[in-house]
Amino acid sequence: MRGDPLPVENGVKVLYVEDDPSSEILVRRVLESEGFQVVTTADGLSAIEVAQREAPDLILMDINIGGLDGYEVTTRLRTLEDLQQIPIVAVTAATLQGDRERALIAGCTGYISKPIDVDEFPRQVRSFLQGTKEEIDSAEAKAEYLVEYSNRLVDRLEDKIRELENTNAELQRLDKVKTDFIVIAGHELRTPITTIFGYAQLLQTSPDLPGSRDEPGSARYIVDRMTAATWRLNQVVGDILNVALIDADKLDLSKGPVFLKSLICKVLEDIGRIGSERELEFDLEGLEDLPPIIGDSKRLYQALWNVITNSVKYTPDGGCVRIKARRIEDTVQIAVKDSGIGIPQEDQERIFDRFYILHDTALHRSSKTAFKGGGLGVGLTVARGIIEGHGGRIWVESQGQDEEQLPGSTFHILLPIGNLPTSE
Ligand code: ADP
Repeated sequence: MRGDPLPVENGVKVLYVEDDPSSEILVRRVLESEGFQVVTTADGLSAIEVAQREAPDLILMDINIGGLDGYEVTTRLRTLEDLQQIPIVAVTAATLQGDRERALIAGCTGYISKPIDVDEFPRQVRSFLQGTKEEIDSAEAKAEYLVEYSNRLVDRLEDKIRELENTNAELQRLDKVKTDFIVIAGHELRTPITTIFGYAQLLQTSPDLPGSRDEPGSARYIVDRMTAATWRLNQVVGDILNVALIDADKLDLSKGPVFLKSLICKVLEDIGRIGSERELEFDLEGLEDLPPIIGDSKRLYQALWNVITNSVKYTPDGGCVRIKARRIEDTVQIAVKDSGIGIPQEDQERIFDRFYILHDTALHRSSKTAFKGGGLGVGLTVARGIIEGHGGRIWVESQGQDEEQLPGSTFHILLPIGNLPTSE
């Protein structure tokens, strides 16, 4: 400290850890009127962060705060190199005998009891800044308080671990209830959807249905739209169901020989049926030479559908989607490359997370093929779950997102050719 008694506090930074707003306001006023700079925070964990960030000259620590209490925060702060020497002063209502000693054992430099004496307080703070250090009088008392404090820490740790374990068990239970609900609701929805879809298809193929599919308002036009919408609804329910099953690690695969060329052609055919208004060029390469792989053809169809419809959705009219496949040793690699808007580097891993959507959800359109049509944000989660369920991998490459330059994206899918499981 320099010699002059008054303005030395200018620029001296005090961190006050306090969860009671009235005490906080009072201490702040008293100290600021004396030229101190006061930073406050209200709970234990944030106190540790703020103390490291702000590097205060002195810390005033309320003991009864939420989360870690003032003793524990002090002990933690003393383990940090930059905070080992600064004064930490407990400021708390004297409730129990020995509180002062407990504070000193935890690592505090001193103790000021609440309510503070407004006239005396700045002088007390200055004195700690100038090096005052309180001590416990006898070595015996010190040893006793140390044992008490260690026991208390162990008790608190045990309580917290028990609490966490209980909370975890409860969360797992709730998660299971949620998954069960989604799976049951999904199956319940599927049954009527299948019936509606079946009848709609029956009507669609009836030669007696009047009108044409290009004649708005005609019976054939309406049935055509209804069939496409029901089919899309079925895909959405399928995606939701699959995410729940993947989450719960319950995605069953019913494996058999799969001809990827037929699956990809079927996806393109179905896209053509529901998205004929898009003007995109599709280019296929290497599909002829692919060997059959062992997998679940329905699920692989869904994975390919999700990836290919994304390429359609995020490529403007006039663009191109190239699907190139080749065998590499015991695997098949499929690359779906579009000439679309691309994907920012920082999002290329997160787009596989469930419900992750890059575009503004306010602009959401529920089309599976319209440009930037958007979806539920589960398509790639499902694709990854299915492909990894087959022992494969999926990842994306893109130079970034740019709606003018259209850098495009390439989704790579690697699938093992595999063997049929042997029945025992
Ligand atoms: P959604 O159901 O919304 O399409 P997905 O899980 O399939 O969700 O995709 C997640 C996000 O990844 C999309 O919202 C989109 O922003 C981005 N994305 C996926 N595929 C492409 C692509 N081929 N080109 C550009 N962005 C894409």
